[in-house]
Amino acid sequence: MITQTSISYYGLNYVEHAEADFKEMKAHGVTQVILAVTEFDFDFWRPNIPAIVDKAHELGLRVLIDPWGNGKYFGGEQVSKFLQDNVENRQVSALTGEKLPYACFNTNSYRDYFKNFCTTLAREAKPDGFFWDEPHYAFPKGIASITGGVADDWTCYCPVCRKRFEDYYGYPMPRYMTNDVKQFRWREALVVLSETSKALKEIDPKLEITCCVHATQNGYYVSEYRGYDNWDMVGSCPYFDVFSTTIVNWALPEDFYLDITRRTVAIAKKYGKQSERWLMGYYKQPKDWKQVDRWVDLAVAEGVDRIAAWTYRGGYGTVVGAPDALKLWDAIGENYKRVIRG
Ligand SMILES: [Zn+2]
Repeated sequence: MITQTSISYYGLNYVEHAEADFKEMKAHGVTQVILAVTEFDFDFWRPNIPAIVDKAHELGLRVLIDPWGNGKYFGGEQVSKFLQDNVENRQVSALTGEKLPYACFNTNSYRDYFKNFCTTLAREAKPDGFFWDEPHYAFPKGIASITGGVADDWTCYCPVCRKRFEDYYGYPMPRYMTNDVKQFRWREALVVLSETSKALKEIDPKLEITCCVHATQNGYYVSEYRGYDNWDMVGSCPYFDVFSTTIVNWALPEDFYLDITRRTVAIAKKYGKQSERWLMGYYKQPKDWKQVDRWVDLAVAEGVDRIAAWTYRGGYGTVVGAPDALKLWDAIGENYKRVIRG
């Protein structure tokens, strides 16, 4: 049974405008808003964020705050103030040693910055929870994608990661990805999210944490190795409440979508979490609109607890808008109304 139907939203500046949008979401069967709060929003629009969360609550919507694209460590198109303000604490290429435009989430500098961002919003805005949106190391990513490609380079080879690796394993960090490097990357990647999730629950134990990782194969031959591809490690984190996997392009085979959905539910059940699957509500649309219905039905049949879509109005008016953005939004809305709470 689907218990929550979510849509992401990044138009948060004026409360009265958000109110009109929230009413439109309600009319589309939405129960939960994934509020994409950027670093600029946090820095500039802070007074209006609590008022917008209050307005959503007043209209009967739950609110999860998404630190969208924060440090470019999370997924998203927004720019990062952390990267603008810090020339260090960036992820570093293992092969070339170049500093990359991604915050290294294993540095105390970024860990403090991120925790402060979230705990401040928890105290001021009082959302229902937080949404960890596609956290990742910069590289690799190509090997598990439908387009293939080689991914020899990886991150992070910054001074902080290298020192921590050597302190733990007793030898210098290699430049090629060994099993120790893989284990180190998985373990360290979870620290920033675990510590911040724990801090949030200490502020309010009812705050709910969704961890949404890339929908990857993670099979015997291919895996993305972006830090959160070991789903057992992510699923077993005691501070996460919902195990979620990201969007699959409508053009991908239905078997791939089904495989991701089954494995998502299995991991969630294994570790006593709720499961969530995402639909592509932006950028691309299915050739046959009935595919939206079929994929929603598949999620329901496989026992998914929550469905979500990126984003409000199909990305209408942005460079990632679907060709028929409003039609896609309506197709998702019709399905939400059809399946919410049976
Ligand atoms: Zn690093």
